[in-house]
Amino acid sequence: MRLAKRAEDITPSATLSITAKAKELREKGKDVIGLGAGEPDFNTPDHIIEAAYKSMKNGETKYTPSGGLASLKQAIIRKLSRDQQLEYAPSEVIVTTGAKHALYTLFQAILDKDDEVIIPTPYWVSYPEQVKLAGGVPVFVEGQEEHQLKITIDALERSVTDRTKALILNSPSNPTGMVYTNEELQAIGDLCVRKGIWIVSDEIYEKLLYHGATHTSIAQLSQQLQRQTIVINGLSKSHSMTGWRMGFAAGDKKVIEAMTNIASHSTSNPTTTTQYGAIAAYDGPQEPVENMRLAFQHRLDTVFEKLSTIPGFHCEKPQGAFYLFPNVTEAVERTGFANVEAFSTALLEEANVAVVPGTGFGSPDHLRISYATDLDTILVALERIERFVKERWDSTESASKRG
Ligand code: PMP
Ligand code: GLU
Repeated sequence: MRLAKRAEDITPSATLSITAKAKELREKGKDVIGLGAGEPDFNTPDHIIEAAYKSMKNGETKYTPSGGLASLKQAIIRKLSRDQQLEYAPSEVIVTTGAKHALYTLFQAILDKDDEVIIPTPYWVSYPEQVKLAGGVPVFVEGQEEHQLKITIDALERSVTDRTKALILNSPSNPTGMVYTNEELQAIGDLCVRKGIWIVSDEIYEKLLYHGATHTSIAQLSQQLQRQTIVINGLSKSHSMTGWRMGFAAGDKKVIEAMTNIASHSTSNPTTTTQYGAIAAYDGPQEPVENMRLAFQHRLDTVFEKLSTIPGFHCEKPQGAFYLFPNVTEAVERTGFANVEAFSTALLEEANVAVVPGTGFGSPDHLRISYATDLDTILVALERIERFVKERWDSTESASKRG
């Protein structure tokens, strides 16, 4: 029996598969350090767990409306008003099983066959595959190294065609950690308004910003931009709630209605218990979020300094998220590997460190290192990477001298 073409055409998530591989090796007794997953290592704050537990004890264990509990939608509306000064009605919000599923459902709702979606590279691994699963065509615009791996307005304009339906923006970015400035967002927004392009604004790393960097949603820049933007967000990163599977989309009423119809035939509703936890997350104390941010900031500073001692790794300091995305072409070449994938495989098998090759992010010159792990462990991992590179670098040099 043959599989459906759409299933054959997609590749598994590079981030999740490297994480699974590291776990498998650990279970076999290998001392592998995983810097692959983009998953905060902190526990979910207690008050959220208490609220979820209490809701179950109170018998809140049944289906909810497909688009989410009315009370949670109100909490999300308050969050968007408080943090982004964006006002929405409940009919403009859908609660989903993680931000990933908000994006998936959105593409199912807005894309017809062969509709094009512009995706800046480097991109988060799931965007192109989700677009393809909805029958769309990913169109890549390359972020420039000299421009913090962000796209320029000229490159964006050149990629627009009659079939362009949407643009995906992810700021702060996974995998680069870079943030678009208000001026850049304004230029991108003006173009999208002029050409009538939907903007999918993935703001999942909104709370993870360092050293004074700030987040603006492109939807904040004008009423027209708010109408043309679907804001995607969730609690996985900000509140360390990856396993709870909690996300949302906010935007045009017709789009949200279509997404809710699709959800009613696929997930029915996001997990009820999770939704009660999410109300506590949005309405409760935000100190735990700030404490986690400070811990990430401290890690970034330490890890970035350490990374700069590894030969052949070149990286600009990120402003947000919890990833470093060094250009490693020099290291790959000088250690004698054919490409970044072979280099990463050897790092895992010989140095026992799991990182994600940039290929999965459409960026084969780079490597993604997640610092969502405790500092001591990351520093040991970076020592291992440094030793691995230095040993091989030396041997390549002496081999060439010998030659
Ligand atoms: N967008 C980006 C850029 C991400 O890195 C992630 C990571 N999981 C998601 C969306 C999805 O998050 P979740 O489904 O856990 O809410
Ligand atoms: N978003 C995280 C990452 O990039 C989690 C894994 C995933 O969902 O892809 O590592």
